Amino acid sequence: MAEDKIITENEDKEVVSKNFIEQEIDKDLAEGVYDKVVTRFPPEPNGYLHIGHAKSILLNYGLSKKYNGTFHLRFDDTNPTKEKTEFVESIKKDVEWLGADFKDHLYFASDYFDKMYEAAITLIKKGKAYVCDLSPEEIREYRGTLKEPGKNSPYRDRSIEENLDLFERMKNGEFPDGSKVLRAKIDMSAGNINMRDPIIYRIARMTHHNTGDKWCIYPMYDFAHPIEDAIEGVTHSICTLEFEDHRPLYDWVVREVGFEHPPRQIEFAKLYLTNVITGKRYIKKLVEDGIVDGWDDPRLVSISALRRRGFTPESIKMFMELSGVSKANSSSDYAMLEYCIREDLKLKKPRVMAVLDPIKLVIDNYPEGQTEELEVDNNLENEELGKRMVPFSRELYINRDDFMIEPPKKYFRLFPGNEVRLMNAYFVTCTGYETDDDGNVTVVHATYDPETKSGSGFTGRKVKGTIHWVNAATAIKAEVRLYENIVDEEKGVYNEEDGTVNVNPNSLTVLNECYLEPSLKDAKAYDSFQFVRQGYFTVDAKDSTPDHMVFNRIVSLKSSFRPGK
Ligand code: ATP
Ligand code: MG
Repeated sequence: MAEDKIITENEDKEVVSKNFIEQEIDKDLAEGVYDKVVTRFPPEPNGYLHIGHAKSILLNYGLSKKYNGTFHLRFDDTNPTKEKTEFVESIKKDVEWLGADFKDHLYFASDYFDKMYEAAITLIKKGKAYVCDLSPEEIREYRGTLKEPGKNSPYRDRSIEENLDLFERMKNGEFPDGSKVLRAKIDMSAGNINMRDPIIYRIARMTHHNTGDKWCIYPMYDFAHPIEDAIEGVTHSICTLEFEDHRPLYDWVVREVGFEHPPRQIEFAKLYLTNVITGKRYIKKLVEDGIVDGWDDPRLVSISALRRRGFTPESIKMFMELSGVSKANSSSDYAMLEYCIREDLKLKKPRVMAVLDPIKLVIDNYPEGQTEELEVDNNLENEELGKRMVPFSRELYINRDDFMIEPPKKYFRLFPGNEVRLMNAYFVTCTGYETDDDGNVTVVHATYDPETKSGSGFTGRKVKGTIHWVNAATAIKAEVRLYENIVDEEKGVYNEEDGTVNVNPNSLTVLNECYLEPSLKDAKAYDSFQFVRQGYFTVDAKDSTPDHMVFNRIVSLKSSFRPGK
């Protein structure tokens, strides 16, 4: 649950709770430090976004909404080695899908390379930056340790003129990669190692996806990021805890470069999910090894995978609200995410009948060749979803486990001699069954009582079991995929010996012969439904076609999670 919350009562006595970032923003606005709120989500386009990024997106976007401010999507594309335009497109799609509107506010850090270069010149002219010729190893050596202060570089006292000249020549490509760097001149004995003359520019001949070969020097993250924020007029630069120690440098950069309304960095704890993989390296390996069918495999928690699995933006928002914003690291449970999607779909989606492991049920006293259409509520808890017609006739499919030859105690479904209700239809009594040569049940026989039709007001007798069914002649044959966690939870996420993921061998079950009621025939990618008694399912966006429908189970109906526990 969220920590660091205060509860305040406003004039209407309505209880409003604020997280610690909102408290800071309130203070800044009250003290006139800022007169508006501008936030940003700054992904590096080097991979697909995952559920952790969704937290950052929804937090930043949510704050911009709450304070009537502006939200920016900015690609932090200052490091050309790993970046790909493919990721830019997938990230935009994911941010949009989550409902974070960045219309008119889409930015690329690489568009600021000229300004960053000028900022570096400003620092040199103020005597706050110098060109250093030490090798990477020497720089590391001179930096000192947590216990020992660093030593000044022998190049630290170069004149401003010499630095200006060398930096320009670095830019012009006169020196080999890695032979020189530009460093901020701060304090080699600072307790915070980030302040010991950090590197702010390096030479690297790399082709950039946006600027091509224009540059052979590139700014370092700690120098570039605050400048990007400041150029865009970001007020609150919200990032995760590992940047806390970099904040003094962030503040130094915006101050020394001379921005008039410098942004402010605030850190919060990352979202961690128990027994879930988010690391790019691990997912890449699962993809390469063919264990998952891509970054959007429904067992993963990339945003595209969650979308394909059938999660909704609303469910992810609810999850983020329940998990809260905090300064303390903690871990949330995947069961809470499942709870949120159930809550979201419960009243919104029709409840339909689908048989995932079929056997035939023949109602021997039902007229051959006759079909009747039964009127059925789409969702008993939400009348607004209306009604639909479901065909019924002599031959149906039921789930294999709804019939037993020799039932144990308390089994109230079909067995020879027992009467049950066929959901939305009639009472039927089992009169017999057929088996194949191996003794497997192939057909169950029953008789129905026409008096007992659902909705007819029949009160003559009661039955203890209700089972669902689909009409055999009109059923849609489909493929259904059931999922478990890709991680073997008993073994833990990672194999300690080789550092790979402990994969759950049962994470995917494909059911090839499932029968769905015909109302599903026009279902499109991402449409979702409750399959009664079996969970929530969505049409798979990658593999489903009108001739071969494929459904993913989003989540089963049973929950182990209750909010507030
Ligand atoms: P890397 O830097 O290793 O490539 P990253 O996950 O940090 O991966 P970025 O593109 O830098 O990727 O992240 C964009 C934003 O998302 C950053 O502001 C980062 O702090 C935030 N973020 C990343 N992971 C989480 C998480 N688990 N919870 C909350 N925010 C996160
Ligand atoms: Mg990062």
